[in-house]
Amino acid sequence: MKKIALLTSGGDSPGMNAAIRAVVRKAIYHDIEVFGVKNGFAGLIEDDIQKMSLGDVGDIIHRGGTILYTARCEEFKEVEGQQQAISNLKARGIEGLIVIGGDGSLRGAQKLENMGFPVAGIPGTIDNDVAGTDFTIGFDTALNTVVQAVDKVRDTATSHDRTYVIEVMGRESGDLALWAGVAAGAETIIVPESSYNMQDIIDRLNRGRDRGKRHSIIIIAEGAGTAPEMARLLKEKMNIETRMTVLGHIQRGGSPTAFDRVLASRLGGSAVEQLLEGISGQMEGILNNELARTSFSYVFSGNHRFNDMMYKLSQELSI
Ligand code: ATP
Repeated sequence: MKKIALLTSGGDSPGMNAAIRAVVRKAIYHDIEVFGVKNGFAGLIEDDIQKMSLGDVGDIIHRGGTILYTARCEEFKEVEGQQQAISNLKARGIEGLIVIGGDGSLRGAQKLENMGFPVAGIPGTIDNDVAGTDFTIGFDTALNTVVQAVDKVRDTATSHDRTYVIEVMGRESGDLALWAGVAAGAETIIVPESSYNMQDIIDRLNRGRDRGKRHSIIIIAEGAGTAPEMARLLKEKMNIETRMTVLGHIQRGGSPTAFDRVLASRLGGSAVEQLLEGISGQMEGILNNELARTSFSYVFSGNHRFNDMMYKLSQELSI
């Protein structure tokens, strides 16, 4: 293989740039030409593809976002779009593609693979909702952003004797809420993977109040409900005023943590190796701190495992 391309797709996540850097440097080290595709699959269809050099990825390892930009592209979901993408790649003599993105982007990658074009996948999303890897690129940075925000809210919650509801991202995955809740010592964590009992939440808040606790933090993943809904329920059932914070897109930005930079570098390097070894059709991941490859079909047949033991622990620690 002498020419490969790479793209970032779906929602951006901190560490994508570190993965781009690793792919470009590793490929050039092995005398392979690398082409960057702008705006995800849209750039493949529109032939927005440019050769990359070592210098193009200098000074980006610490930057959030993605220098290749990212987009969502409905046209690519159609066979015609996928055929156009392959035809544009082949016209340049490109023999393999690396896709960095979340679950949807990896499904797009699988479509090209099924049509006979070699593709390697790298999981990049703050949601950590991809099967076949313990961590996705960007999760650790988003987690640290949430924890810093909760710590700040906690200061003011204590000063004012208040209950705060903090809504975090995670439409289908509660990992961000769970890990942030444990790290920041939240009283209650609400996730899409587990139903919640309002009476338990009320009892927990009352126990805290009885022992003189001046603040309470409830973290809710967006897929399990909204902060305004939870605040309304607390007002209705306990007659208490709560304050709400919806963290929103700040969770997607910022300089990647050391963990995400290292993860992105390892997965990026291994994706190039995958194509060089003539394998393809695999997502790079990390399982028990070892690099691990999982076929796209397995990634989509399984669910990312929610850590029930940690969820139980979070409840035990916030009695
Ligand atoms: P995030 O986790 O941040 O939402 P994602 O990669 O899951 O990221 P999606 O919007 O689901 O984001 O997918 C990104 C793009 O991947 C889509 O806009 C589309 O171009 C492509 N894609 C998604 N699903 C498919 C599919 N089933 N077939 C072909 N392409 C797809």
